[in-house]
Amino acid sequence: MAMQYMKETAAELKGAEGGGAAAAGVGAGIGLTMPFIMAQQMQRAQAQQLLVCPSCGAKNPATVKFCGSCGASLAPPAKVVCPNCKTENPATLKFCGNCGEKLS
Ligand SMILES: [Zn+2]
Ligand SMILES: [Zn+2]
Repeated sequence: MAMQYMKETAAELKGAEGGGAAAAGVGAGIGLTMPFIMAQQMQRAQAQQLLVCPSCGAKNPATVKFCGSCGASLAPPAKVVCPNCKTENPATLKFCGNCGEKLS
């Protein structure tokens, strides 16, 4: 299947640009590399996620621990697992948001 793909790409390039075998090779290389590069860029974008301050809504780099706007802690809120339904609730809740069970 891979060989067939390269042959088709070479044929397309010859028809479009009149390039030789070298041009066809470059074309095929780009065709195979582009999705990989795009995936890498998407991963990088995810790494540069912004943390939205839960207190004032300001956006902070994911690397900081405290909001640069109001000083609130940006640490992820602690989770309490409901003993009844196993739903994760923010530690600030006193009762399970799913079933109403009292959280310890
Ligand atoms: Zn803030
Ligand atoms: Zn529950």
